[in-house]
Amino acid sequence: MSDPMELKAKLGLDVFKPGPKPHITIKPGMEKDPRLKKAILVCPAGLYSENENGAVTLTIDGCLECGTCRIACGKDVLDWNYPDGGAGVQFRFG
Ligand code: SF4
Repeated sequence: MSDPMELKAKLGLDVFKPGPKPHITIKPGMEKDPRLKKAILVCPAGLYSENENGAVTLTIDGCLECGTCRIACGKDVLDWNYPDGGAGVQFRFG
């Protein structure tokens, strides 16, 4: 029997507490690096996008802390850390 809830509905149940600063950032000057475009495809929360200038942007609210973007893009283009204690995702489903 399949679960009637779609992925976005499940993700919508999670709670995200922002920290004092984003725990993942695109390194300055790397916004148009081709390696970053992988994150658009692999981030399960869909937090990466490409703007009209070809620069990749990241909206950190909703991050699942899965590390997929870190593996896909590498540390040359991303500054990746876990959030400070008390901040970040709180899973509500599974
Ligand atoms: S850690 Fe996971 S959810 Fe967070 S931005 Fe990277 S790929 Fe997306």
